[in-house]
Amino acid sequence: MPTLFLATLYEYSPLFYITVVFVCFVVTSGFVLGWFRLDVPVILRNSEEADSLSVVSKKQMRQVKNPFGLDITNPDAASITSGISLTPNCLENCMLTCYWGCSVQRLQEALQHHLYCFLIKSPTALENVLYGEYLHKEQHVVQKHGKEEIYTQLPPDSQLEDFGSLPRTHYPLVAFLTLSDEEDRESYDIVSMLAVIHIPDRCYRLPCRIMYQYLLTSQGQFYDLKQLFMSANDYQLQSTSDSSSQDSTADKDLLEKFGLSEEDVQEDNAKDCVVCQNGTVNWVLLPCRHVCLCDGCLRYFQHCPICRQFVQESFPLCSQSSPTSDGSSPIEED
Ligand SMILES: [Zn+2]
Ligand SMILES: [Zn+2]
Repeated sequence: MPTLFLATLYEYSPLFYITVVFVCFVVTSGFVLGWFRLDVPVILRNSEEADSLSVVSKKQMRQVKNPFGLDITNPDAASITSGISLTPNCLENCMLTCYWGCSVQRLQEALQHHLYCFLIKSPTALENVLYGEYLHKEQHVVQKHGKEEIYTQLPPDSQLEDFGSLPRTHYPLVAFLTLSDEEDRESYDIVSMLAVIHIPDRCYRLPCRIMYQYLLTSQGQFYDLKQLFMSANDYQLQSTSDSSSQDSTADKDLLEKFGLSEEDVQEDNAKDCVVCQNGTVNWVLLPCRHVCLCDGCLRYFQHCPICRQFVQESFPLCSQSSPTSDGSSPIEED
């Protein structure tokens, strides 16, 4: 039947083409106006319509205390041959175990073991699952609150200069933090932390950094700890790293002209929402992790105003934020 219809139409050729164009037009406008319930429609929606739409779902938050902290002391100086300095900052007495050249597959299996078999809360538990698939192991005692530098290195006789080309089968360094005292293990939700660290070598000269930080909980779950992107932090980073450069002195001069000190600007940056420039930033947008909206502006946005990524979920940094007051940024409170 449709074939017959098309054949008849084709005989009256101008009508045929007009119909084809018309059908295409209808389908395209259908896509644009969102008749087919696909994810294209947002193009034409304006802010008034966004009001009536269901607001982005808000994630349920649970606060847990993390006893572990780990920083790389001087990332620029770290290398496979010269080793790396780590600064653990822990709330309890801990044990830092460094596994150089740890098998990627075995480590992922260890995380799965934590989920389904037994908790990975001590170096022995981890090693039971790694089956010795690492090149070198070092163990250090970490004192409570003691921010002492710990230096770790591959033994010089290993003669290793790189971990091969991508995709790699071994992580350069895995730092494993565990609680030393049995009572502490009972009192914290988080029982251990696995940090996977990239260290530049002959093949890959990308700067040294922590690639993943897995927090392992006593309920047999693990979470990948991620950084939040806040404008206040960016500003501070910039101001510390560029403090000697000419740009920064020029900036300071400018600020003095307007009667502002650098601290004022940092505070302002810390509290200003990127949209209304007035409210305190409070909402973390997921999955992009930008922290740029205040309580009032959140409901108007289905896309992140910084990176335009679709916001799937969001959660507040503080549940009751008091605008104005002391101007401290929410991130400093915890
Ligand atoms: Zn705002
Ligand atoms: Zn974003």
